[in-house]
Amino acid sequence: MKSRRDLILEEMGLTPVWRLRESAPLAGRAPATEPPARNESRVTSNESLQPATGDRRAEIMSLDWAQLKQRVAGCTDCPLHAKRNKTVFGVGDENADWLFVGEGPGADEDAQGEPFVGQAGKLLDNMLAAISLKRGANVYIANIIKCRPPGNRNPEPHEALQCEPYLHRQIELIRPKLIIALGKVAAANLLASDASVASMRGRIHQCRGIPLIVTYHPAYLLRNLPDKAKAWADLCFAVRFMRDLQGGKAALT
Ligand code: URA
Repeated sequence: MKSRRDLILEEMGLTPVWRLRESAPLAGRAPATEPPARNESRVTSNESLQPATGDRRAEIMSLDWAQLKQRVAGCTDCPLHAKRNKTVFGVGDENADWLFVGEGPGADEDAQGEPFVGQAGKLLDNMLAAISLKRGANVYIANIIKCRPPGNRNPEPHEALQCEPYLHRQIELIRPKLIIALGKVAAANLLASDASVASMRGRIHQCRGIPLIVTYHPAYLLRNLPDKAKAWADLCFAVRFMRDLQGGKAALT
């Protein structure tokens, strides 16, 4: 009979089952070509954005969890608020070691007020389960933006910029050991880089002093099944990095 893990990997399209190896270096591999996809196509570089006013940012960076949640729930600081049903603050363990960051809410998330509850969310939950993690248990899930862009378009730079202090404050409050950027929009905003996901994978980046690994967005993986194997390699890389961190031997590249 297949184990639960094997069933999860099969669901992810990752059979035959792969096992974690102790030291399979990903860094230095030739980057794969990355086909354009909704979550991978538009790059936003922080450099091209208008800075948020210092006062607003400082005010948000001083909030505690309860105040921050309230501030986001009532936010009208960019045009996205007009069409949202619910803000999507983020969910999970507020002391998590793992922080997964996506792009922004879709229709399901906008209706429920929780990130990654649609089809992409199902895949994300399976990806977590494949590395023995679970939403809410040592895992926090957030997005670059808290309100759904109409028609599921990518967030505009000024929208991402208005939301940026919220995510930065979440990062400060959680103080995760590792951030996983899911897809191009997350990576571009967290790293202020317009490099492709393919070129950013397999390395440890830094975001606000916290190690960060880039992988594909689950919605992209649903449309590009062969890249699920690459996402699995990224998760294995992350698990090894976290193990090394806990054993005191993680090498930052
Ligand atoms: N895609 C995202 O990037 N975030 C969600 O919460 C849902 C889908």
